[in-house]
Amino acid sequence: MSAIASLFQEAARLAAGFRQTIPARHMPAHDYATSLAAFSEPLPTVGSQMLDVITQLAGGAEPGLHATTGPRFFGWVIGGSHPVGVAADFLTSAWGQNAGNHTAAPAAAAIETVAARWLLDLLKLPAESSVGFVTGATVANFTCLAAARGEVLRQVGWDGDARGLFGAPEITVLIGDDAHTTVFSALQFLGLGHDRVLRVRTDPVGRIDPAALAGALERVSGPVIAILQAGQINTGAFDDFAAIIPPLKAKGAWVHIDGAFGLWAQASVKTSHLSRGIESADSWATDGHKWLQTPYDCGYAIIRNEIAHRRAMTIAASYLPLAGEGERDPSHYVPELSRRARGFATWAMLKHLGRDGVAALIDQCCASARLAAELLGREPGIAILNEVTLNQLIIRFAADSPDEEGDTMTRKTIEKIQADGLIFAGGAKWHGRDVLRLSVTNFQTTSDQAELAAESIIAAFRSVGRG
Ligand SMILES: *Cc1c(COP(=O)(O)O)cnc(C)c1O
Repeated sequence: MSAIASLFQEAARLAAGFRQTIPARHMPAHDYATSLAAFSEPLPTVGSQMLDVITQLAGGAEPGLHATTGPRFFGWVIGGSHPVGVAADFLTSAWGQNAGNHTAAPAAAAIETVAARWLLDLLKLPAESSVGFVTGATVANFTCLAAARGEVLRQVGWDGDARGLFGAPEITVLIGDDAHTTVFSALQFLGLGHDRVLRVRTDPVGRIDPAALAGALERVSGPVIAILQAGQINTGAFDDFAAIIPPLKAKGAWVHIDGAFGLWAQASVKTSHLSRGIESADSWATDGHKWLQTPYDCGYAIIRNEIAHRRAMTIAASYLPLAGEGERDPSHYVPELSRRARGFATWAMLKHLGRDGVAALIDQCCASARLAAELLGREPGIAILNEVTLNQLIIRFAADSPDEEGDTMTRKTIEKIQADGLIFAGGAKWHGRDVLRLSVTNFQTTSDQAELAAESIIAAFRSVGRG
């Protein structure tokens, strides 16, 4: 066997071996400090054999790997890195394409064209929209908001892409109080300021209050960007798009939606009522590496106005206008020039699951979330603070005790759950109080797994209660 073949086979063997340990894996044996020690040595003067390097890498990393790809990992909102996506990603790395343009990487550019068409179809978004394949929803939000910034300024006669914001007309940014932190980062990167926003009041599950929004709209004039949300990070709640997008559009606002995971509600008839009206926005940010289960480093910036998208992202203005010529240069839709060919893993996941498979995946996660909520809600002292309409739950322990005591019990229960290690879930503050969060975003989280999770949480709470 050639050296390359044995090297790649060994990597594949190690990868498959790791995946086999996942169902039984608990918290990582190594924390950050131990992992650091495992790799700490001075920069080697002399190199090592290829195979030895890969063996050492796997040996050093494995004890510090979390079971994020497993069926009982409920922390943050983390997708499962599906084996088909991973295999496509192996090939992507091996092929080594620089997916910047269609001459350097014809297949990588072309498969983005097809995957983009599929995504728009699946997510029921306007077919004329353009899609940038980015690293994740943070950069998707950034890309969409860059297009928004350019377009709302252009409409008042200012070329912000060329002249910047110095001396530009002021843009009002309207945003809900419970928006995701990375949207504020995107505003910061764009010179719009993470604090220089008009925050709109939200309800107990994090939805923008339409009356508060109407009040805010009466007070603003000039260019407006409004940022709405499909899937609040803790509660999974959706803004009421059908009610609030029309008045925003009447005001001439660019409406952007952060739908990092929630946009996928569009893909199932059981959940698409949640996102009703979402297609009338101007841009949408979502992730492949969350609910679509692609490996990490995959998100999509979707923009109705392709010209605005390209104006904001294009590397040189002389490239314009190429739209309509029929050849896609992926770098025109993203901030980077040289980049990973993310279309391959996206195509592989969509081809593997199909429209029905994506819907079934969304439905299974939501059903497991509802089942966990139902089982947990039967236990005295445990309260589910949100209506579980999607895949997210927030849970409060000693819920009938005074606030401080409930906070303490919630934190202690979370510690116990993590120490037991049958599942992983973490805490958050929700409207000032401690909660446990569960996000069901893995293709393997069936009802059995949801039952196990509920049992483990109840057992942890009872044992903490016994002191
Ligand atoms: C995860 C998430 C983001 C950020 O996405 P990344 O893929 O981590 O960059 C933004 N908004 C929401 C609602 C999210 O859940």
